[in-house]
Amino acid sequence: IPRTLTPLRHSLGESDLFVAVKTTRKYHRSRLDLLLRTWISRSREQANGNRSRYTEKKTRNHRTSSINQNISEWKFFLQTYVFTDTEDEKARKILGDRLINTNCSAAHNRQALSCKMSVEYDAFIKSGRKWFCHVDDDNYVNNNALRSTLSSFHHSQDVYLGRPSLDRPIEAVERLSSRVSHSVNFWFATGGAGFCLSRGLALKMTPWASSGVFMSTAERIRLPDDCTVGYIAEALLGVPLTPCALFHSHLENLQQIPLAELHRQVSKPGILQRSGVDCPNREEELSRHLVDSLDEGTIHINYLPYSSRNKSGLT
Ligand code: UDP
Ligand code: MN
Repeated sequence: IPRTLTPLRHSLGESDLFVAVKTTRKYHRSRLDLLLRTWISRSREQANGNRSRYTEKKTRNHRTSSINQNISEWKFFLQTYVFTDTEDEKARKILGDRLINTNCSAAHNRQALSCKMSVEYDAFIKSGRKWFCHVDDDNYVNNNALRSTLSSFHHSQDVYLGRPSLDRPIEAVERLSSRVSHSVNFWFATGGAGFCLSRGLALKMTPWASSGVFMSTAERIRLPDDCTVGYIAEALLGVPLTPCALFHSHLENLQQIPLAELHRQVSKPGILQRSGVDCPNREEELSRHLVDSLDEGTIHINYLPYSSRNKSGLT
């Protein structure tokens, strides 16, 4: 299946994107290592773009073996920043200052997660880049597709792009003071599938997001970090979520995507879980498979049903 390159309407260079990956201490070996060997390392190669898949095919064997050789030789991390909660010598060697120790707690609670989002936001603002995209560490990002998707928008417009988490707006209770609260409805993009904000919108979010204020905003509605982004964009600023079906999380069944459409998808669950337990060997195997499939434009993955935690689809 030929890989078709869509012409860029607002051509995006390597340093226009800021992709923030959220991770945590316990996932450094089982998840982060895998990302460093796959799509994070390939960011620059793909950003340079325009290599035909035939050229890629020829170099594939060589590339696969160099992945195994010396990971520290990979220096293609121009757009990807990893936000975690601990120091990590191995990841630091590879990522340099693109590994950001947020000093947030390593707990999986609302405060800890919105603490990370708050640090991601500040780092993006400081970077001066055009687009902020957030992904989890169990996601595979197709940099080419991401760039081509973003290039149909302008970074100075108000753009909030992602996959709606629910099929209706979420109803939240906004607590304005200890006595005053009222209900608010808004759409939000699920963090697990990845979402993007234009710089224009991100700057408008400053009063509710910068320098840690994001955490108090999250407390105001007592919802997770990705909901809080939707709350600020839609409910506070009136900027609606632009739904994009090219972002995917592990809450979906990816086998429904036609093979010919696969290479256009922006993000995919790169790591699978069963009953809430990670399976590192299986992850490794499947993620390699995903990367290879993407190169070939085909997919033949036997997805394990994602059955962990019967959640409301909030994360
Ligand atoms: N995460 C985190 N701190 C934790 C647990 C998870 O920062 O204590 C991050 C994790 O690295 C991932 C995201 O939160 O990027 C979602 O975690 P996970 O995939 O385990 O949960 P789910 O997607 O099922 O909510
Ligand atoms: Mn996940």
